[in-house]
Amino acid sequence: MQDIYDIIVIGGGPAGLSAGLYGARSRAKTLILEKGKWGGQAATTEELENYPGSIEQPTGPEITARMKRQAEEFGAETRAETVTKLELGGKIKKVITESAEYQAKTVIIATGAKPRLLGCPGELELRGKGVSYCATCDADFFTDLRVVVVGGGDSAIQEAIYLTKFAEKVTVIHRRDELRAAKSIQERAFANPKIDFIWDSVVIEIKGDGIVESVVVKNVKTNEVKEVQTDGVFMFVGYDPVSDLVKGLVDMDERGYIITDENMSTNVEGVFAAGDVRVKSLRQVVTAASDGAIAAVRAEHYISENF
Ligand code: NAP
Repeated sequence: MQDIYDIIVIGGGPAGLSAGLYGARSRAKTLILEKGKWGGQAATTEELENYPGSIEQPTGPEITARMKRQAEEFGAETRAETVTKLELGGKIKKVITESAEYQAKTVIIATGAKPRLLGCPGELELRGKGVSYCATCDADFFTDLRVVVVGGGDSAIQEAIYLTKFAEKVTVIHRRDELRAAKSIQERAFANPKIDFIWDSVVIEIKGDGIVESVVVKNVKTNEVKEVQTDGVFMFVGYDPVSDLVKGLVDMDERGYIITDENMSTNVEGVFAAGDVRVKSLRQVVTAASDGAIAAVRAEHYISENF
């Protein structure tokens, strides 16, 4: 059994890295565990144009890589390990991964959210064969090809704009006749000659023989069904919290988002949540970073009062 950490942060996106930075800066013995890609969803977006200070357009991967380096430079340990089990009830918490078992005085859950599946036939079969959830990762494969983007929120429209740098044509398929995305993003999309829209429509099937060839689209007002030829389908129909690990351990809402107070405290003493995984009104890199900072500072207060 190793030393007891002051703070173990689960998740290496902006919330977790910010928590790690603030924890380490205050000389708390801090460990950040990440099971997949450091930087979280922010590392999958090219244009992080609304993060304060990002005016000269560093990309999501660049900004989040610097966040990680900054946390490490202040002394946070970072490990690429998947947490499989948590024991949060006692004063000392146990964090069990595939390869180790850690103890901590406090735990900050910063596991974020993952792209929601549309759930239509063909989606899973053709995932990675033309169906994608990450434009930054896959746009390059569609150079001079046609793609459709499903959804009308910030992600869909921002990523549709990004895809125009590669694809010949980008068709946004949205289930209503107006977009949910921020007006500034909408304006850029409407002004982009490579983007067109199919309104009031849903994708009911993705077709292809081993690789995407077309989508079947249904107009929800007229019930008209048509097939649209395409080489790729980018899905941006929202996100779900990554909170299975703490199901039954901390209070959550009906959608699985963790309930915290404004200090990021959950209902369990010494357990905090930060970023997209918690109930909140604005899920952005800037609010994730803010949550992480608050959670780490409150974790330190908790430690000084209880240990
Ligand atoms: P979102 O805001 O929840 O939007 C999801 C979109 O998918 C909506 O347009 C929704 O349609 C559509 N949709 C949902 N379920 C669908 C279904 N079954 N079939 C067809 N369409 C469906 O998700 P998001 O765009 O990923 O954004 C998530 C959060 O991240 C938001 O808070 C957003 O502001 C934030 N974000 C911000 C930025 C930025 O500021 N630059 C960039 C990316 C994300 P309806 O509109 O009809 O509901």
